[in-house]
Amino acid sequence: MGTKSITRNETIYVTKPTLPSLDEFLPYLEKIWGSKILTNNGPFHQELEAELANFLGVKYVSLFANGTLALLTALQTLKISGEVITTPFSFVATTNALWWNNLKPVFVDIEPKYCNIDPEKIEEAITPATTAILAVHVYGNPCYVERLQDLADTYGLKIIYDAAHAFGNNYGDSSILNFGDLSTLSFHATKPFNTMEGGAIICHDAKTKQRIDYLKNFGFADETRVMAPGINSKMNEMQAALGLLQLKYHKQNIEKRAEIAKRYRDKLKGIKGLTLFLPNERLNNYNYSYFPIFIDEKTFPVSRDGLYFLLREHKVFGRRYFYPLISQFPTYRGLPSANAQNLKTAERISSQVLCLPIYPELDMQTVDTIIELITNAK
Ligand SMILES: *Cc1c(COP(=O)(O)O)cnc(C)c1O
Repeated sequence: MGTKSITRNETIYVTKPTLPSLDEFLPYLEKIWGSKILTNNGPFHQELEAELANFLGVKYVSLFANGTLALLTALQTLKISGEVITTPFSFVATTNALWWNNLKPVFVDIEPKYCNIDPEKIEEAITPATTAILAVHVYGNPCYVERLQDLADTYGLKIIYDAAHAFGNNYGDSSILNFGDLSTLSFHATKPFNTMEGGAIICHDAKTKQRIDYLKNFGFADETRVMAPGINSKMNEMQAALGLLQLKYHKQNIEKRAEIAKRYRDKLKGIKGLTLFLPNERLNNYNYSYFPIFIDEKTFPVSRDGLYFLLREHKVFGRRYFYPLISQFPTYRGLPSANAQNLKTAERISSQVLCLPIYPELDMQTVDTIIELITNAK
């Protein structure tokens, strides 16, 4: 009682895609209609690659039709084979990308503070067949990148970061995307920077960029030469044009997210049984892509699922990212590394996490309503 949800008719989801005004987008569309250049590394595609490299502070960007194709192509780029060490605490695309490359996923548990793969547990999972680590900067917060690089150097492994949550985030002075061999991004509608669908691979040298660009265009080097068995995973001109326009508003969109995160943090801190996610101190330019909270049902009045359904009754749809764990899906749960004993922390966190709505258009009144619903939960 006493909440504004009774008069609030709109359903609130965990996120809502951000779009610029249609008026501003029309001139871009007119250019495309005029030139009839729709894809194949057209002018908007080239411009967005250059602008993103500059904006993100990285050397090379290769654009993709979506983040999953970027992941698939990243694994092909480095010719990864055999077993790959990865996290069960991610969106299912991370492991699916291994499966589609005929690679064996080996799940390693996460650490409880940042929910990223636990570097201390990687060594025991390495076998002679291990060739790479596919890690995720969960909620945009950096993995233990130095420790992972040490392990990779010692054992001769490649590192690919699924950086789908980490657009624009810096670790210290440098983009998170500058760590590891390759990083992949997603520009899906639900991500803080979107091109409706879209993605990218970030690499650090021109030769690798060349190989990525061959692979995403069937392997073609020119009209008659195919350098590798490639795929078609190119971003089209409409997506790239939208990306250019979105980039103009990105900073102001993130500022709005930051205000919402601050309100949640101020009002939800110190509540018994409710833990806030605190990103690494060296994280700069945080994009506030998610606002996870963790519910301990022993001390909070209701369980995580209790809270999730209570909010739903008031038309507030949080999301349990990531529940179930990837290792709990029927396709993967038969893997030796998928057993619960091996993934204790991931299993616990997955049962406690709830991501609250956060997006630039979300008004403070609604944020306050959500906060009230949580603080009054019983
Ligand atoms: C969104 C996401 C993906 C998939 O990206 P798409 O662009 O939707 O294909 C992959 N990994 C993670 C961690 C994601 O959050």
